[in-house]
Amino acid sequence: MALGGITDSIARGIEEAQASVSGLLFEPVVRLGVTGLSRAGKTVFITGLIANLLERGRMPQLTAAREGRIEQVFLQPQPDLTLPRFDYERHLAAILGDDPHWPESTRAISELRLSFRVRPSGWLAGMRGMRVVHLDIVDYPGEWLLDLSLMEKSYAQWSEETLARLERRAEGRDFLALARAEDAGLRLEETVAQALARGFTDYLNAARALGRSDCTPGRFLLPGDLAGSPVLTFAPLPAPDRPARASLWREMERRYEAYKSKVVTPFFRDHFARIDRQVVLMDVLGAIHQGPGAVEDLRRVMAEVLGAFRVGRRGWLAGLIGARRVGRILFAATKADHLHHEQHPALTAITAALVAEARGRAEFAGAGVSAMSLAGLRATVEEEVERDGIRLPAVKGRLLTTGRTAVMYPGQLPSDPSRILSPARGGAENWLDAEYGLMAFAPARMTLRPGGGLPHIRLDRAVEFLIGDLL
Ligand code: GDP
Repeated sequence: MALGGITDSIARGIEEAQASVSGLLFEPVVRLGVTGLSRAGKTVFITGLIANLLERGRMPQLTAAREGRIEQVFLQPQPDLTLPRFDYERHLAAILGDDPHWPESTRAISELRLSFRVRPSGWLAGMRGMRVVHLDIVDYPGEWLLDLSLMEKSYAQWSEETLARLERRAEGRDFLALARAEDAGLRLEETVAQALARGFTDYLNAARALGRSDCTPGRFLLPGDLAGSPVLTFAPLPAPDRPARASLWREMERRYEAYKSKVVTPFFRDHFARIDRQVVLMDVLGAIHQGPGAVEDLRRVMAEVLGAFRVGRRGWLAGLIGARRVGRILFAATKADHLHHEQHPALTAITAALVAEARGRAEFAGAGVSAMSLAGLRATVEEEVERDGIRLPAVKGRLLTTGRTAVMYPGQLPSDPSRILSPARGGAENWLDAEYGLMAFAPARMTLRPGGGLPHIRLDRAVEFLIGDLL
């Protein structure tokens, strides 16, 4: 074989080793995607995860840790040199400082590599030496997955659908007035395009603040380094009769198409398509607290987000990803430390029911799927309180607003999820028989002791489900 051929095949071999999670290959690499809508808890989850993998004292449900087979876990330079690194040290410093506070949330994609030195288990233990497994954690906004829905829509279709949706929403009025006042058949003026894009972004932010989740294009809310660029300076418009070439309509259309080809496609091709295992975080408690409308929005938007993971996916994404698939998907309700553990099964059941529609079609066939309630960082302790002679399972923590200690009982979640999902689907304005209160807690003061890790809820079970088979 000519030298070129040999180096080619070596390069290919390395690529295969990198791409595979079969565990028998040399130093396998697992790419774990962490996603969820803005404020779902991605940053806190990943920070807690890394801290508790580096110091595994609080990870008894991770089999390899319990069996003492993980010799060492260490941070490594990541392989993708052009991606921002997940800023673990800064996030940890926020949590562990004198005035503990929550770290800054995810704004764009980032990555970090953890490497495990593990001893094999069972009968292999005597035959094989230490193995190294690399875990690449890829953090990306769930909003970016929603852009999948744009890929097969023309600008005209997208405009029509979006404007129709805005008509049903009070927060859409200002932008609708702005869009209708324009004649998109006229020649483009950049200031007009900018004002429209700003107006549309304002609408998306308002919709988001109301708990609506169907806010696309995803980069309008989380632009990363694209803020202000022409590829984000477009908006939906009523179609003019015969738009000329240099018209506002044609230019908007051109930018919309560029958004698809230059922003959405590279993300799916270079990052999403390479994920092996995935955790989807959901602020289910927050949505329940906001009311039935927010729960229904969350359900609808999750169904859309999950479309990206369907095995039987069609069209554009299938062409991009091919036969490769995500092996395991975990749906996790975050911030479970707002609830006494007695209520966790109810929260998990609601989470599973929320994503059941997408799951029910068996479109993740072959992928292990699970639902769980967890907390990346536990900010409360459990406490039972008595009200009117009734014992209530509550939690206690330091309030984010005043710093004072408070006890919270958020209400009794029904054990039957349909009592949450049915009124949400039916368009109810309020919960009939209950109020679900929530308080925002600050992280408790703590120190990271050698071997100790940070307080969490079920991170060990989450890791066991996601990558336990590879350790
Ligand atoms: P991201 O936008 O998905 O990265 O969300 P973050 O991880 O920044 O979380 C958003 C906010 O949710 C945080 O600032 C906290 O206030 C809250 N939060 C996230 N995770 C937890 C948790 O485990 N426990 C509690 N009590 N609050 C959490």
